[in-house]
Amino acid sequence: MTHIVIVEDEERISSFMAKGLKAAGYAVSVAGTVREGLMSAAGADLVILDLGLPDGDGLSVLRSLRDRGDDVPVIILSARTAVNDTVAGLDLGADDYMPKPLRFEELLARVRLRLKKTSAQEDAVTLSHGSLTLDLRTRRASVNGKEVDLSAREFSLAETLLRHSGQVLSREQLLAQVWGYDYDPGSNVVDVYIGYLRKKFGQERIETVRGMGYRLRDV
Ligand code: CA
Repeated sequence: MTHIVIVEDEERISSFMAKGLKAAGYAVSVAGTVREGLMSAAGADLVILDLGLPDGDGLSVLRSLRDRGDDVPVIILSARTAVNDTVAGLDLGADDYMPKPLRFEELLARVRLRLKKTSAQEDAVTLSHGSLTLDLRTRRASVNGKEVDLSAREFSLAETLLRHSGQVLSREQLLAQVWGYDYDPGSNVVDVYIGYLRKKFGQERIETVRGMGYRLRDV
């Protein structure tokens, strides 16, 4: 499911957007601060970013994402429509800029456009990281050219890790991406499946980052 993160501190606005985006079929999560925004944005398919946040400037979320090599599409949403702000946002690598007050239909159209661009890039048939390769068409995995049997769930977990290789993904993010939001957040299913993948790919391939989550390693 396509996962959109809204970083917006005004609850009235974020719940309005979340409601509309959910109705359009997206999985949505909302963060109200720079800090939360950075945590939720890793692994997202698209980020809608407000600039005036209680603990800092939304642009710092964008900057951190790009600094860590995350090219998730970002749509900036702000009442600050001065040319300087727009230019600063686009310079930092924002994909789009929408003024407040928000017209939801327009936002939705822009979201669709941005997601379409990403999915065109994602049409790649294989994903590789080090000696690990996933064939997305046949849903087969191989390590050092040797085929490894994966269940459907293991494959999507591996795919999520590969699509975000180099990034730390939290249990919540993996749960959201692979199992969807209906899953009990207290469940240890992510850890269990990481264990399965380690058995199949090699223990050292998936690193546990304490207190944060998991990251694919170069092996
Ligand atoms: Ca705000």
